[in-house]
Amino acid sequence: MTWTVLKFGGTSIGSPENLTRVCALVMAEEQPAVVVSALGSTTDRLAEALDRAERRDRQGAFAQLDQVLETAMQCAQSDDLTGSLTARVDEIRQLLVGVALLGEASDATRDSVLAYGEMLAVEVVTARLIAAGGSAQPIDSRRWCRTDARFGQAHVDEVASYAALRETLIPLGNAVPVIMGFVGSTSDGRTTTLGRGGSDYTAALVANALSAKELQIWSDVAGVMTADPAIVSDARTLERMTYGEALELATFGARVLHPRTLVPLLASRIPMVVRNTFDPADPGTTVDQHGSDDETRATSVTSVTDLALLDLRLRDRHHSPEFGERVHRALQTVTEQVWLVTHSAHGQALSLVVPQAQAHAVKDELERVFATELSREALESIRVRTPVALLTLVAEAMGRTPNVAGRMFAALGQIGVNVHTIGQSATARSISCVVDHADLVTAVRTVHAAFHLTHTPLSIVLLGTGVVGSQLLTQISDQRHALRTSLRIDPQLVGVATSAKLAFDAEGLHADTWSQQAETAFGPHGPVTSDVLDQLARLPVPILVDCTAAAGMEALYREAFARGIHVVAANKKPLTIAGEEAAALRDAARRAHRSYQHETTVGAALPVLSTLDTLIQTGDVVNRIVGSLSGTLGYLCDELSKGVPVDQAVADARERGFTEPRPQEDLGGVDAARKALILARRLGLDLEMDQVEIEPLVDATLLDIPEVEAFLEALKDARQGLADRVSAARGRGEVLRYLAVIDPAATPVLKVGVTTVGQGHPAFALSSSQSMVAFYTERYATHPLVVSGAGAGGAVTASGVLADIIRIGVGLRGG
Ligand code: ADP
Ligand code: ASP
Ligand code: MG
Repeated sequence: MTWTVLKFGGTSIGSPENLTRVCALVMAEEQPAVVVSALGSTTDRLAEALDRAERRDRQGAFAQLDQVLETAMQCAQSDDLTGSLTARVDEIRQLLVGVALLGEASDATRDSVLAYGEMLAVEVVTARLIAAGGSAQPIDSRRWCRTDARFGQAHVDEVASYAALRETLIPLGNAVPVIMGFVGSTSDGRTTTLGRGGSDYTAALVANALSAKELQIWSDVAGVMTADPAIVSDARTLERMTYGEALELATFGARVLHPRTLVPLLASRIPMVVRNTFDPADPGTTVDQHGSDDETRATSVTSVTDLALLDLRLRDRHHSPEFGERVHRALQTVTEQVWLVTHSAHGQALSLVVPQAQAHAVKDELERVFATELSREALESIRVRTPVALLTLVAEAMGRTPNVAGRMFAALGQIGVNVHTIGQSATARSISCVVDHADLVTAVRTVHAAFHLTHTPLSIVLLGTGVVGSQLLTQISDQRHALRTSLRIDPQLVGVATSAKLAFDAEGLHADTWSQQAETAFGPHGPVTSDVLDQLARLPVPILVDCTAAAGMEALYREAFARGIHVVAANKKPLTIAGEEAAALRDAARRAHRSYQHETTVGAALPVLSTLDTLIQTGDVVNRIVGSLSGTLGYLCDELSKGVPVDQAVADARERGFTEPRPQEDLGGVDAARKALILARRLGLDLEMDQVEIEPLVDATLLDIPEVEAFLEALKDARQGLADRVSAARGRGEVLRYLAVIDPAATPVLKVGVTTVGQGHPAFALSSSQSMVAFYTERYATHPLVVSGAGAGGAVTASGVLADIIRIGVGLRGG
């Protein structure tokens, strides 16, 4: 028979129910050896107790111990252990009293306290295995795991430890050994620990000592994944990998494995599987000599936090040859953990990444070593940036694949994350870079997404929840799943603002419940303050979606572009401000490499602007554009042609959501004129709003009535005049239409107004709120290119806005 070593992490043994699963897994094996870490978050609690005792906060320290004891008793599920568990916790209490008296805990004392976590765990797990009908024995690892005296990070004497473990297990017979992870002792009997997360390492040592057939690491995740699932919700499990790959991942922060775990296995070639205690049917990740055959397999993203970046720069190139060497020597005296060193060409500039906690010690030592150079100003003063994080992309085949770094840094650049320094070796399985701690979560998600590990998330803040905005909310939540699967983009709503309220949550808002999170807020441009834009800018593919009809929004757009935020707008007003300003706004978007999409500002979702773009881009010459641009006026003309009185037609249109909030704007022709101006400017014409000749549908004096109800009442005066025009047209076989005509060769170039058209005109057959734009061009001279269909309504317009959002996402994914 051969051994199988099963290691259970704190996450797997933190509750009585979890231990029931663990017992079943152990008892299913023929010859199991079990390695356990402390129960649940016991080690964290012991560390906190030590910190409090050092601050002489005894009560606080003891409160942590109470929790430790409670967890152990609960997990034991038997009163038989009460005496021994309480006695152990009393021992810890004594040690903490000593720490509180001194106000200081040595590294040796810390290890003595932390080791109790695993001590309690082996007692509890052994008792539970026996209660489940098995035979088990606790093994105190201080008896066999021989280490040096580097407390907190002890190094193991493998040869001596393997022999001692085998000897320790001889008297056990058939009983399952339940071995303390993480803990060892020096040859003179002092307790040591192997570093946080070290019980994985213990388990690998046990597997080697026993020449096990397999090492199983049971945790709370489905194996080693493409990213930490706590940060990236749709990270995937990697099925197979080599020891080397796992080592790289663990070294650069994949906490699921302690990096030193792989070292003994590299020699013995014992296969390791990382599996999920909560889903034992899942095969998890197999780590062995062979790894995966798939050359194109996924890359993983890992990160390490709580770091500091130190920058050193020599002014005088003369000193550079020995500069690096002196820095390295200085570092050796203060820290063992240098995460990254980058050297510029000629070695004049050097960046170092060290644990944040050691940043001051490192800086002090470097200042001591380079005191002369600093005083002569041959070396610039040393700069420290903190807190920073190291983000690493790992893949076995990376060195053989082009454009890995390009994709990684392009993705970070897209979201405006500043990369402070980069490291990659020629034979690299990984590329690392340093980013500010505040950017880390976004950066990890973005890099993960960029490697097609998942979809591209789009972060949306919606302004305005009127007819269009509210429909958009529904459409986003209805379409999200389909977009994720078909186009691999994921529009996520992170903010919603009305004129005075805002709900914002970087983790996402729900279309139905956002208003419960909304708070009153005011900034210079409404509730979306600079602070909100700053937060949005940190999220992946940030998009501001303007579904309001508010004036002055261009100032907000400018702020958005400056922060790298895209804008999608159904709002026409920022496009009809003074020509120079409108051009400056477009330039601002272009300079920031951001999109300003606004297809819905002309003809709702109809492809009007994109059709015009295509015509121009392919070299056609546009001679004339005729459009029925106002869905509202189109509808009204159609109703009038049927004999419906004007006031009643307007009231109906308003009810059906076909009008602007104030129908006066539609009837005055201003709305149609705005659309025509947007179209004309897109054609390249240099026109201002006051150059558009506008003929209102009804007498201009009626339009001055501010209140909507009073206006509707007064409209009755216009009934007769319009009815007369309709019947005269009917006599000629014509119908009433409200059309915009753009003709660069005519005077005025742009006019909107009431006219009558006969059969054969593209506007003749329009009905209801149908919009139409006819492009008369050199290529479409006799038969114009006509775009026609529903040109108003919340659902249609919202779909056009969503299409603009999708366009941004698809553009970024590259197809
Ligand atoms: P245990 O107590 O079982 O040893 P750990 O907390 O030490 O558990 O490790 C498991 C955790 O590692 C997971 O909950 C997960 O959040 C984190 N983790 C970080 N990176 C990865 C990764 N690439 N794959 C899987 N888990 C990861
Ligand atoms: N209990 C220790 C820790 O929390 C060791 C481990 O979990 O592997 O760091
Ligand atoms: Mg662990």
